Amino acid sequence: MEQLIQQIENYKQEIDNIPMNGAAALEEYRIKFLGTKGIVKNLFGEMKNVEPAKKKEFGQVLNEFKQFAEAKYESWQSTIDSSSTATGSKAGIDLSLPGDPLPLGSQHPITLVRNQIVHIFGRLGFSVAEGPEIEDDWHNFTALNLDENHPARDMQDTFYIHQKPDWLLRTHTSNVQVREMEKGKLPIRIICPGRVYRNETISARAHCFFHQVEGLYIDDQVSFADLKQTLYFFVQEMFGNDVKIRFRPSYFPFTEPSAEMDISCLICHGSGCNVCKHTGWVEILGSGMVHPKLLENCHIDSNKYTGFAFGMGIERITMLKYQINDLRLFSENDVRFLKQFTSAV
Ligand SMILES: [Zn+2]
Repeated sequence: MEQLIQQIENYKQEIDNIPMNGAAALEEYRIKFLGTKGIVKNLFGEMKNVEPAKKKEFGQVLNEFKQFAEAKYESWQSTIDSSSTATGSKAGIDLSLPGDPLPLGSQHPITLVRNQIVHIFGRLGFSVAEGPEIEDDWHNFTALNLDENHPARDMQDTFYIHQKPDWLLRTHTSNVQVREMEKGKLPIRIICPGRVYRNETISARAHCFFHQVEGLYIDDQVSFADLKQTLYFFVQEMFGNDVKIRFRPSYFPFTEPSAEMDISCLICHGSGCNVCKHTGWVEILGSGMVHPKLLENCHIDSNKYTGFAFGMGIERITMLKYQINDLRLFSENDVRFLKQFTSAV
């Protein structure tokens, strides 16, 4: 055993004399003394050859030696760590460089414009109402004065649910207006944004689904003047103060009188271009005073209450606002198109 203890002393001397010089030499040291086939491990293997009375003493010497060898390793390691954090050289990183920017997404242009419309009408006291996209015939047609044989049903080519002939994909968001009126809580001042479906051939100007915002205001003494002023405010907020509006008489089964509203062309400012078909005016929405039959259908006293309603396509407003010339771009998910709206968020 004396021989072994002498040997340990020699190793201690050797360890003391090793200069703490870089990571490669440290790894060599670790393998030689602390590795799985290293000197410390071997010495522990000698334990079985030591006579029983001296095992305890030898054990103590051996543990001390192990701690001595580990202490050298740790202090050597710390000299490497401190020098590498100071310069960043260990991982090859230059900490003075600016970080990599995170790529930012953008909101879809339809979402941008819908949110803007909701915000503008919100300032006039309109709250958002929503309803189902799969609707029954009553809420989509009949309650809106479009009974079964009404010719205006043909204007809206409809997707019906095969197994439930009374169900359909809503052709407008007016179903939400009916549902709100049926609740019987007056006054009503809502806008209804949402997706609608029509069986149209897909082209640059038509799609089988698109988005609408419809508005409804019902109270005592609501007049056409209120309708005009509300829509005028909306147009100025959306397109700027210079834009002019005009109303043209029209026909919708759910309003009487009815009017379509045009705004002055934003592209040519009235001198004539392709967008306005050389008229200087662009149609943006339909509107009118709520037909008394609708109010009665929803159990509202039409002698006491009046109201106005309007509806517009979000795609159409977006195309005018951002001068987009093809409706299909909105649903193609082409990143080159979508990323142009990053700064509009
Ligand atoms: Zn024009």
